[in-house]
Amino acid sequence: MSGFSWERGPFIQCPKCGQTTMGILSARGQLLTKRCTNCRAKMQIPLPELDKKAIYLDQFMFSMIYNVKNEGNLPKGHETFAKEVYAQLRRCVLLQQVFLPHSDIHHDETTVFHSPIDLRGFYEVFGGDVALMDSRDVEFSQNIKFAEAFFDAAEPTISFQLDEIAGSRRNEWLPDIHVGVQADYSQFADQIRTFRSEVHGALKHLADSWLETKATFDGVLESEFSAIGPTKMQAFAKWFEEVLNPDPSDPLALLESSGRPIYREYSALCRSLEERGVDEDQQLIEIIKFWQWERLRETPYQRISSYLFAAIARRVVMGEKRIVDRGLMNDVRTISTYAPYVDALFIDKRCAALLQEEPLGFELEYKARIFSLRDPDEFLEYLREIEGQTPDEVREYATMIYGLD
Ligand SMILES: [Zn+2]
Repeated sequence: MSGFSWERGPFIQCPKCGQTTMGILSARGQLLTKRCTNCRAKMQIPLPELDKKAIYLDQFMFSMIYNVKNEGNLPKGHETFAKEVYAQLRRCVLLQQVFLPHSDIHHDETTVFHSPIDLRGFYEVFGGDVALMDSRDVEFSQNIKFAEAFFDAAEPTISFQLDEIAGSRRNEWLPDIHVGVQADYSQFADQIRTFRSEVHGALKHLADSWLETKATFDGVLESEFSAIGPTKMQAFAKWFEEVLNPDPSDPLALLESSGRPIYREYSALCRSLEERGVDEDQQLIEIIKFWQWERLRETPYQRISSYLFAAIARRVVMGEKRIVDRGLMNDVRTISTYAPYVDALFIDKRCAALLQEEPLGFELEYKARIFSLRDPDEFLEYLREIEGQTPDEVREYATMIYGLD
């Protein structure tokens, strides 16, 4: 065959014109479309159903595999692992067994990376382009579930099905040609850097006070838990004050205060109470009761993050102040919001170690298997297992469509 055609191999015999010119036109969703380059006859073949696993890689891993692809610097001592994990992840993604979700936490961290547009474009395509619900929204939805349980005097129940945070597109066959839209997020970089250094400053301050008071694990855990309600009420009071006394020189301030997480929670709780027939003037009273509810400490993201902070405090008191660095807050956030939902989390070594310490190892429950550079082979083994479990039919189609070796 010569010249350009939209169809590509492998070519089989066309049932209409009889020539060996029936090739692949496109694949996406649940459908493979074949077309004959000679007579244009079209065939549509439904593709097998998929059940992809979610493997959440932290920013470090994404940067590392980006560097494998672009021949950049690889972390010392992990060069072989980097190349192997790149190849193995690519196989699992193309075999339609795995996706590597991205989240608002990645987006923030990527924006401050040296080539943010390239990196974001890369991990979206490489990982199968499934965005998770924003971490704040995960927290919000857990808060609302707990509030509804409180208002109904029922047992709080939260579903950790992946669909709760990933949507149904995750189980589609990947498009064989990806046309990415490259947006420029660099305008947010300064804002994110400022925010991150403020958070880091606050955390360092906290670490100093842990050290000074020789804080214990149980002490910090208890104070984290008992701060949940007061923190919400303080945030609410602050918001309320701003709304009552808007700064006349800053008309945008009012607009901004209506976007506060606490306002969002408050108005959702008001709606929820209204549905339950609670009068408007009773609503705030009920909400404050909810904010004082003892069982708020069982909210999954609150529970996991409180345990992590207590474990961090214990390390700080043992003289490991270095543990408190710029990335720590995002690591805690990643684990506490996503670990209950995804199948695996590849995270920073020190956080992986914290999760293994007691009582975290014993008392925290979440779905994700935790991996880190502490044991890179374990992760490769996990990926090989997934690859090995690919159903034959899926493997055949994937090989045909994506040209796997
Ligand atoms: Zn034909």
